[in-house]
Amino acid sequence: MTRSRDVPTLIARAREGDARSVARLITLVENGDEALPQVAAALAPWAGRAQVIGLTGSPGVGKSTTTNEVVRALRRAGHRVGVLAVDPSSPFTGGAILGDRIRMQDHTTDPGVYIRSMSSRGHLGGLAATTPQAVRVLEGAGCDVVLVETVGVGQAEVEIASLADTTLVLLAPGMGDAIQAVKAGILEIADVFVVNKADRPGADATYHDIQGMLSLGERGPGEWRPPVVRAVAVKNEGIDEILAAIEKHRAWLVSSDRLRLRREARAAAEVEAIALGTLRARLGSLREGTGLSDLAARVADGRLDPYAAAEELIKGL
Ligand code: GDP
Repeated sequence: MTRSRDVPTLIARAREGDARSVARLITLVENGDEALPQVAAALAPWAGRAQVIGLTGSPGVGKSTTTNEVVRALRRAGHRVGVLAVDPSSPFTGGAILGDRIRMQDHTTDPGVYIRSMSSRGHLGGLAATTPQAVRVLEGAGCDVVLVETVGVGQAEVEIASLADTTLVLLAPGMGDAIQAVKAGILEIADVFVVNKADRPGADATYHDIQGMLSLGERGPGEWRPPVVRAVAVKNEGIDEILAAIEKHRAWLVSSDRLRLRREARAAAEVEAIALGTLRARLGSLREGTGLSDLAARVADGRLDPYAAAEELIKGL
């Protein structure tokens, strides 16, 4: 729990780029701390400052290697960069996993890069609420670009990644990935495909599989057709092409007014997740009190139907 008078100090220090204050603010977000409404209010003026890039793909395709190289290129271009590695299945937090991840360590001493792994421990709204709020913290801390790397392949990761301005989907040859991508709904969320490990046999087949699937989809005039970029992240090959594809997508987002729509969709998901979390918490306190048990007793012995009981419960919130 954070004393409310600490919040302005934390925000001020984070604004100055103090990494420990940024870390503490993200921990507040993760824990669903009571000071969060105050944190969110203080950060609101900086909303939308950063370009948010999502990066997703199966374990082992080269996400962290690619992120590392993309961060290096963004740093060379003078950007301040935040990286959020979101792992819905992991109980570890506070940078514990990423701190140990060698491939990211190139940037651990660079004050212009903030790297953080995140889980949703304790937060009632889950990662749908925590991820955008952590992005807000990084925006407030002056990051121009925030990379959200999602570890895993489930629906949750797909949803989180797709909340970005631009979503990169990484594939690698020989993993049946193209088919997997279709199954997991990844094809729909990708703005840019990266066929990583293009040095491996089968990379061409994966490339053509994706191109083939993309040509099947119907696209109206002016719609975005995701480019497919080949990369060898371990050799820093294809990274400039990835950045060029992201820039091209960003230009399209701006010219087609989709950037605004995407950001509104992201805000809607965030607000909804927070509202659901709040409702769940209030329901929880009802469960502890007598409100629900009275209703439940009436439903159990047939004096009241469960829909009417639910209505009554909602009215009581
Ligand atoms: P992640 O699990 O998606 O984050 O994947 P990692 O970035 O940890 O990479 C998984 C493994 O693939 C590591 O051993 C990397 O060195 C290797 N790797 C990453 N990119 C490439 C590449 O372009 N070519 C080859 N041959 N190996 C790569």
